[in-house]
Amino acid sequence: MTQAGLEANKITITPEDAVRECAPQYFALEEKIRKAYPNPDIYRIRDAYEYAAKAHAGQRRKDGSPYVTHCISAADICVDMGLDEDSIIAALLHDVIEDTPISHETVAKRFGDTVANLVEGVTKLTRVQLVSKEESQMESLRKMLMAMSKDIRVILIKLADRLHNMRTMQYQREDKQRSKSLETMEIYAPIAHRLGMQKVKWELEDLSLQYLDPVGYREINDSISARMPELEAFMSNMQERIQSRLEEEGIHATVYGRIKHTYSIYRKMYAQHTNLAGIFDLCAFRAIVDTVGDCYHVLGIIHEIFKPLPGRFKDYIATPKPNMYQSLHTTVIGNEGIPFELQIRTHEMHQVAEYGIAAHWKYKSGEKGVKVGDEEKFAWVRSLLETQQESDDQDFFHNLKVDMFDDEVYVFSPKGDVISLPAGATPIDFAYAIHSGVGNSMVGASVNGRIVTFDYKLKNGDVVEVRTSKSAPGPSRDWLTLAKSSSARTKIKQWFKKEKREENIMRGNAMFDAELKRNGIALSTVLDEKMLPQILKRVSFESLDDMYAAIGYGGITATRTVNRIKDVIQAQKAAAAASEKNTAAKDKELVEKINEQAEKRAAQPDNRKAINGILVEGLDNCLIKFSKCCTPVPGDDIIGFITRGAGISVHRQDCPNYIKQMESGNPAEVGRWIKVDWAATLTERYITSLNLLVKDRIGLLMDVAATLSTLNVNVVSIQSVTKGEHAYISLSMEVKNAAEIKLVMKKLLAIKDVLDVTRTGKAQ
Ligand code: MN
Repeated sequence: MTQAGLEANKITITPEDAVRECAPQYFALEEKIRKAYPNPDIYRIRDAYEYAAKAHAGQRRKDGSPYVTHCISAADICVDMGLDEDSIIAALLHDVIEDTPISHETVAKRFGDTVANLVEGVTKLTRVQLVSKEESQMESLRKMLMAMSKDIRVILIKLADRLHNMRTMQYQREDKQRSKSLETMEIYAPIAHRLGMQKVKWELEDLSLQYLDPVGYREINDSISARMPELEAFMSNMQERIQSRLEEEGIHATVYGRIKHTYSIYRKMYAQHTNLAGIFDLCAFRAIVDTVGDCYHVLGIIHEIFKPLPGRFKDYIATPKPNMYQSLHTTVIGNEGIPFELQIRTHEMHQVAEYGIAAHWKYKSGEKGVKVGDEEKFAWVRSLLETQQESDDQDFFHNLKVDMFDDEVYVFSPKGDVISLPAGATPIDFAYAIHSGVGNSMVGASVNGRIVTFDYKLKNGDVVEVRTSKSAPGPSRDWLTLAKSSSARTKIKQWFKKEKREENIMRGNAMFDAELKRNGIALSTVLDEKMLPQILKRVSFESLDDMYAAIGYGGITATRTVNRIKDVIQAQKAAAAASEKNTAAKDKELVEKINEQAEKRAAQPDNRKAINGILVEGLDNCLIKFSKCCTPVPGDDIIGFITRGAGISVHRQDCPNYIKQMESGNPAEVGRWIKVDWAATLTERYITSLNLLVKDRIGLLMDVAATLSTLNVNVVSIQSVTKGEHAYISLSMEVKNAAEIKLVMKKLLAIKDVLDVTRTGKAQ
């Protein structure tokens, strides 16, 4: 209830009158407690009632009744659940911290720390803003509520509180009915289910459905009412039949039929796309017996009387559900051919099925002789974990532990999103969980509107806000110790890796150079134009700087890098040797070809006369020129072109101009090409040209000239054009034949920074 709402509903009444006004309802509760508990401290409970009545004096509920009636009712539900005396007292006081000026300390002084903590816990849960979210968020919200209730009794009292509020929801505004019902359906009913509290769960679901789909709810209830006489007849008939048969067998059992709860029928109708008439098993039966042995005995008898539906038998006694539920389930076909389900369980199992964790707790404390309502501080979870050795309880403890999520903390973003973080997480973890950019630019944080330091330990339900700045200095080294989540730490490390790149490159470079030296590899080998791309590929880096940076921050060791580089150098050497061999073979081939051609001509009496070392069929006196576009030399396959009035021009057969004309298919052009051959004896030198692609550097032309000079090649002209970091060199020279030009090309290519050497073959 909001403070404003309380003011509006406030009426003047003395505290004593407030106590008197609800005394009848309270005494009914007291009576119930006397019957249900062995040695209740009635004076303490009554004191709690009077304290609550006085604190809430004058506050009214929407239906006009005194506010404390809600507190008595919540306590009443706690008695039904079998909760202990502290819980009952806390239920009576559960709204005093939230709705009255009374503090935790005041409650603690009068009723003890346990009660004060329980009341405080319930208050905290009440304050959490639950906004409907997608399912993954709902699960986090449920976990958060569970985790916030360090003492399981907190959530049980909260369930009692919510149950009573749902029971009296008809007095609320329609929008509040809907929002509270949705919250109940999505959060509290699943929690009740998880704790095995079927009875509470069913009631919460049915009450919620009533407001979430009033039409659907009424439809089911009306149809059931209409069919009630028929259903009741069926149920009493079956009940009698089973009961009498069990009596014959000497088994003491309570058998009864019931209509399933509305929401389960509603869900089934949706799942099966059918109406109520289409659902057969509206009724379910229970047989409650004394011992586990009796359960199986009853099962045998039932299967004798009725035909069981195959595949429907489930043994939850041997394998309890995670929420501790135990029973035998079977579905059989009754007299009228109507199938119905039967659950068989012991009284203890029945208690657990109805009240779940609460029932279990009641049994445990009873067995151990711990008086219900013992003054000793009873941290429920811890005491359970301490007794974990009791083997028969292991499943239970395991499930409880799973449900308690001790290792996680759930907090809200300012938008209301739930973020789950490891226990002990700080605002740093939160910021990096939102986004690494948020973490890296974080300059401050606040929790629940108050500024906190970066080492603040987040608590369940905290609303965390992070202040960021574009000029933030970034994370500091000590954030690595403050962050609890490994993902935050990884992101912080990544930042250091990136931001300290220059430093890393320098360090890595030095380490790399030292390692190269140790292995006797020259840096120039690695930096070689042809080698470097292969090396980078082998070590998987885009650039040398990346590689240095990685070595610098320790992503890869210098030794490992150099070992890989050694592999590349080795492979390169092997390839070069192979290609050397290959080239040598080809050269030999070419020389042989030239000699062969010469021998052939020498052997065959040739009546052609050589002009400039060229034989032309049928012509012995014409002008012979060597084309400038492809500069053929002996050994090249050649072809002649009859020029207009200028004799014959000799081209290589791979000359682009020749190929172009032949491809054109123009007879006027094609017809002018004639067969020509090299003469047998050739002593002359021929001018040919080469193109070089080089990486421009001072002294390169000198290197080229020196190489040509060692080869005894007469250079006619050298021209160089620079383009960016590259240069193109055109070279004209005199050579004897194709073998010589090949050798020249090979030697030129071997010069450092000469990237490519080709024969000239320019299209004109
Ligand atoms: Mn309440």
